[in-house]
Amino acid sequence: CMTTQLKMSASESIGQGMNPAQKEAVLYLDGPCLVLAGAGSGKTRVITQKIAYLLRECGYMGRNVVALTFTNKAAREMDERVKTLVDRKLSKGLIISTFHSLGVKMLREEARNAGLKPTFSILDADDAMSIIQELLATTDKARLRHVQGIISLWKNALLEPDDAAREAVTPGDVEAANIYRSYAATLAAYQAVDFDDLIRIPALLLASNEEVRTRWQNRVRYLLVDEYQDTNVCQYRLVQLLTGSRAMFTAVGDDDQAIYAWRGATIENLAKLTTDYPNIKLIKLEQNYRSVQRILAAANQVIEKNPKLFDKKLWSDLGVGEPILVSAMDGEEQEAESIAMKVSASRFERQAQWKDFAILYRSNHQSRILEQALRNLKIPYTISGGQSFFDKTEVRDVLSYLRLLANDDDDPAFIRAATTPKRGIGQATLQVLGQYAASREISLLAAVAETGLESLLAPRQLDPLRTFAEFIRRMQWRAGRGAASGKDAAPAEPAGVILDDLVEAIQYERHLFELFEERPAQTRWQNVLELTGWLKRKAEEDNMTLFDLVQHVALVTMLERGEEEEPDAVKMSTLHASKGLEYPHVYLAGVEEGLLPHLGKDDEVGDPARAAENLATRIQEERRLMYVGITRAQRSLNLSWCKRRRRAREDLVREPSRFIEEMGLGDVRVQEDEATAAMNPKERMAMLKALLKK
Ligand code: ATP
Ligand code: MG
Repeated sequence: CMTTQLKMSASESIGQGMNPAQKEAVLYLDGPCLVLAGAGSGKTRVITQKIAYLLRECGYMGRNVVALTFTNKAAREMDERVKTLVDRKLSKGLIISTFHSLGVKMLREEARNAGLKPTFSILDADDAMSIIQELLATTDKARLRHVQGIISLWKNALLEPDDAAREAVTPGDVEAANIYRSYAATLAAYQAVDFDDLIRIPALLLASNEEVRTRWQNRVRYLLVDEYQDTNVCQYRLVQLLTGSRAMFTAVGDDDQAIYAWRGATIENLAKLTTDYPNIKLIKLEQNYRSVQRILAAANQVIEKNPKLFDKKLWSDLGVGEPILVSAMDGEEQEAESIAMKVSASRFERQAQWKDFAILYRSNHQSRILEQALRNLKIPYTISGGQSFFDKTEVRDVLSYLRLLANDDDDPAFIRAATTPKRGIGQATLQVLGQYAASREISLLAAVAETGLESLLAPRQLDPLRTFAEFIRRMQWRAGRGAASGKDAAPAEPAGVILDDLVEAIQYERHLFELFEERPAQTRWQNVLELTGWLKRKAEEDNMTLFDLVQHVALVTMLERGEEEEPDAVKMSTLHASKGLEYPHVYLAGVEEGLLPHLGKDDEVGDPARAAENLATRIQEERRLMYVGITRAQRSLNLSWCKRRRRAREDLVREPSRFIEEMGLGDVRVQEDEATAAMNPKERMAMLKALLKK
């Protein structure tokens, strides 16, 4: 297909803006290909260009090409890139998605083969957690998270409950393995899958069912995988099984950016590729096109301290660039204010836009104070990697009722609504109900009303179920459900009235105040009111019924996640969520010992050797995270750390991160920020204004 390369269309030509090594990676189609290279070297660009090459020059149909990335955002960016390179007609059916979305697609098409009913439900982490909580019969949050974490790791390593039980040594692990078994049974009974299953079940299905395997291997003629270093065993299996013996795939990755070991990702997958596919074409890229030399040098110096899997060199010809600044701050409030002011001033000085700036941090909890500081200066911002309004527990709780009102078949919504607030419906009851519904191939809600259930449940189990279902039916009726089904019913009542009655009837406010301390309960209740207020306004303005609203919310939620148009706003993000992205000016907050590196708590007491080894591995992963952070910056980089930080009402004395030292910045290293620290807010505003006048 190389001969056609001359007849390029008007759109951007393939190979333009590519160095020889990148071109080689794009054109190579004789077998599997692995591009291994440092940050900003154009790995992702290789993927987008290769998709264009396959579709435009090699006669691949859109539906035969699949590209996998790590986050929805990355998938979206890649999709946009490809759109500028390839005609819409040619890319029809092309899949650019995360592993999870591909898994959902496969499961939908293969539900029967996987032993699931077509309307199987997908549980989110919250839903899954409440099942585990019920099974463990504890409210110890740390223990719950721990067990959920282990189960997830087992699933990602393709271990079944039996395997897990065999491998478990500590009493904690043995207990977790038991929970894993019951958890798996519960999910099966509910006809539900969790996030890990979205990849695990398709992989198992491909492995065990030849017909399915052949179908998918014929479909996926070429597979591309970005951020390969962060795949886990399960994802690796999926890649192997989808590509089969033809092994037509390109994987790109950087072992120095592996930051998901805690979720079961294993860098060994990179090394394993070269042994599983001895003929794999290995291509290294050495030029960085993203960052100025100072930034790249600092990044290289830091990552040098880690043991190397593959040797890499990285250089840039984008000039030396400005010095990297490090500021020592007195506390986190001061740090946040200082960053906000610097961003504001810098935007003015550079005549830049807000969206040229990013503030990155290690932990989600750092974002609140940073947000406040930005808001004080009226700086627009967006947050990724954090929780969106529609992901908040209380918002999802209320929405689960609305989802169920609109759709009888939404079983996860049924489970969530039926158990929140608690009304005497336990896991055991739900399990029986789930089994019964599955055998009858009907929804949980429909199953409640059937007489067949009466012989399976005691009255004290059945009664609360029936009361709940009747309540839902009554609400559905009032919302106009009868009218929709053609029976003669009263016209739908206004959505606002039903909404208020519903929240009142389930006593959600009381539930919050029973569960939480006064302050957090109030905040949560405020969120509920914000949601219902917004829904009511929508209903009135656009004359929507409750059912219209539910669909509307689903759409808004998707849009919000979709962020169609990129707004001119400062980007706030966790380091993890910033992977693969780039920003002209980066502010890295909280670069101090205990936060970055984050040391977590050491649970492996007893075996000092093992503890030391764990610590060393953890520091290495944190160092890669630091490397990811530094290499997001294109032109300028500012670091800050706090001498004191408040944790749980206590002021802790902090030290600058070891990684600052490792960057080898020399004397400019510590820039005391006392000048701004000593000013009161008024003076600071004055300074800012003066800066803006410059
Ligand atoms: P990361 O490891 O952070 O994911 P990456 O290796 O995927 O980085 P890209 O994001 O593909 O790197 O590229 C980094 C930047 O360099 C992008 O802005 C990209 O457009 C640009 N770039 C890549 N290759 C070239 C090239 N040959 N000429 C000019 N610019 C390039
Ligand atoms: Mg990339």
